[in-house]
Amino acid sequence: MRQVIVAGNWKMNASKDMAGGLISGILSGMSGVKSKIIACVPFPYLSQVEELTKGSQISIGAQNLNVNSSGAFTGEVSAEMIKDFGAGYVIIGHSERRSLYNETNDIVAEKVEAALNSGLTPIFCVGETLSDREAGNTEAVVEKQVMAVLDRTGAEVFKKIIIAYEPVWAIGTGVTATPEQAQETHRYIRSILSRYDEGAAQITPILYGGSMNPGNAKELISCADIDGGLIGGASLEAESFLNICKAG
Ligand code: PEP
Repeated sequence: MRQVIVAGNWKMNASKDMAGGLISGILSGMSGVKSKIIACVPFPYLSQVEELTKGSQISIGAQNLNVNSSGAFTGEVSAEMIKDFGAGYVIIGHSERRSLYNETNDIVAEKVEAALNSGLTPIFCVGETLSDREAGNTEAVVEKQVMAVLDRTGAEVFKKIIIAYEPVWAIGTGVTATPEQAQETHRYIRSILSRYDEGAAQITPILYGGSMNPGNAKELISCADIDGGLIGGASLEAESFLNICKAG
């Protein structure tokens, strides 16, 4: 039985006031939450969130990394630095990074490997665009994204990876994949892993992301291959995030 995981992706949204209020709001409503909770915060707020979440049920994640551990890479942040602030997770290959910062499948695979090598758990994002889906290419696109990592790392390490299936057309749009659409792709992703390592296929959590909210979370998370959510917009408000956490 896989534990439900709910991860908040704050994206580039925060201030010290906002981060403090949001984390204390979440902490004050945690009773009854059984899901594992991860807050993926912008780099400058890792330290503040580390302090605020000490000894709590909230784990910390970042949203990107540089594959090098240190050196002349102005403006970049390494896995070692992320870990220095108590973070155990990092989002890799979010569709915004793929489309806005030209992160190819190869770059994403390299980052996943760097995260694993440093002991961070990657939250590895895959997902098709609307035109991919309309052309009937959802499975082919997602398979290519998964295989880029699998070819580089092997299947066994997927036991230490969280996958997030995020259809690009559902991210930040208010349009959510139906539970049937999401489950179908989640099952397909698990079947890819099964071809190489059945143990990994059974263990690897596959989260759904794309306009998940308190109103649709329960139905999505109750699908057989959906193990939780990666939440953007609804993670920025304590009550809505908590209500998603409680759906698990
Ligand atoms: C995301 O950016 O990972 C995401 C799922 O965003 P939203 O929940 O706002 O669609």
